[in-house]
Amino acid sequence: MEIMKDPRFNGIERFEDKIWLSTPTMHGDEQYWVDDAIHKNWITTAGENVNTVEQEAAKLIGRKYAVALSAGTAALHLAVKLCGERLYGQPRVGHGALEGKRAFCSDMTFDATVNPVAYEGGEAVLIDSEYETWNMDPAALERAFEIYPEVRLVVLVHLYGTPAKVREIRAICDAHGALLIEDAAESLGATYRGAQTGTFGDVSVISFNGNKIITGSSGGMLLTDLQADANKARKWSTQSREEAPWYQHEELGFNYRMSNIVAGVVRGQLPYIEEHIAQKKAIFERYRDGLRDLPVQMNPFDADASKPNFWLSCLLIDRDAMCPQTRGEKDALYRQTPGKSCPTEILESLLAFNAEGRPIWKPMHLQPMYRMHPFITAQGSGRARSNAYIKETGMTDVGADVFARGLCLPSDNKMTPEQQDRIIEIIHRCFK
Ligand SMILES: *Cc1c(COP(=O)(O)O)cnc(C)c1O
Repeated sequence: MEIMKDPRFNGIERFEDKIWLSTPTMHGDEQYWVDDAIHKNWITTAGENVNTVEQEAAKLIGRKYAVALSAGTAALHLAVKLCGERLYGQPRVGHGALEGKRAFCSDMTFDATVNPVAYEGGEAVLIDSEYETWNMDPAALERAFEIYPEVRLVVLVHLYGTPAKVREIRAICDAHGALLIEDAAESLGATYRGAQTGTFGDVSVISFNGNKIITGSSGGMLLTDLQADANKARKWSTQSREEAPWYQHEELGFNYRMSNIVAGVVRGQLPYIEEHIAQKKAIFERYRDGLRDLPVQMNPFDADASKPNFWLSCLLIDRDAMCPQTRGEKDALYRQTPGKSCPTEILESLLAFNAEGRPIWKPMHLQPMYRMHPFITAQGSGRARSNAYIKETGMTDVGADVFARGLCLPSDNKMTPEQQDRIIEIIHRCFK
């Protein structure tokens, strides 16, 4: 392990137990509700836990209806299908609800935000991020509507628990008669102008995946204010059975419902959302204070308008403090440089000391799968992008820039202040 022999790291001890990016935190209530389901033999996708978490989540977030599903990805799929059918009608079996249609999607995100557009046969047009929240840039979205005025669907993510510029995005959607799907998978409990994320989309989505701020081991929910949408999503998620004495099917179905066991875990977790947010916030502030003297900034948010849930603490290195770093499709190289560092060096150093960080979500327009999709930025757009192309055209590419200079820091809420101080020290040494 070369890094451990680097004299810059002299005197720092390796973590005996791994420090993780973000792991589940159980409180005991989860066990109670899982046992309850087992004792009552309600272990399928129906039961009291499922019904209760739907009501509790809807109330907590401030939506009329919540539909409990097997994953956030499933919820996003049904959200796209709901919006697609509302816009373009019900497709024939074997055809997607967005077939031949484009939808505008956040570019810098987990691919689960964007893939459901493809599940329904649509083409994702990728919208660049802005520097103030790292989310969809309203100016780029505005440009996208100039280029593709026929588009009627926008999929917006709140990355790392930081609310996007929702007021601007919503206003642009309204001006163009477009529906908004809100991917609040990472931002449960975060608020924007006093309302929780998950309340801004025509259809919104949350996730209970294992590393999210509240977890069910897996699971997700679709949120809406329309009873008809909630009923449809619930029906689709249980194989689209009609009310009949036999299995009667009028439309395509899915096996997307949340199990009553998973719902038991979620039920036990929900009361702890505020506690988890407070822990995550403390971690964020400790990093912010501890790294203040370095040429870096924390992931930004609009302190006037929003309260993030601080799911992951992230770092962005100043341009002139970046050591040379290049990334291929599956590997990375950097050159150690006094006074400078880069995400690759910090991530490799953390790993050498047994702590888990992560690169920023690699933007979709840089992914082999989506490379040929349209990508719209505040200044310019293009398909065959390269650094040379970007330089020549003056095109901005905020996503690529944040990906190059940013990283996610270990943000586990069970990390102690002492452990976090050691991580902060390791990062300092990387800049030596
Ligand atoms: C986790 C996540 C999802 C998907 O949720 P799953 O429950 O894992 O399917 C979607 N979008 C974003 C931004 C996520 O982080």
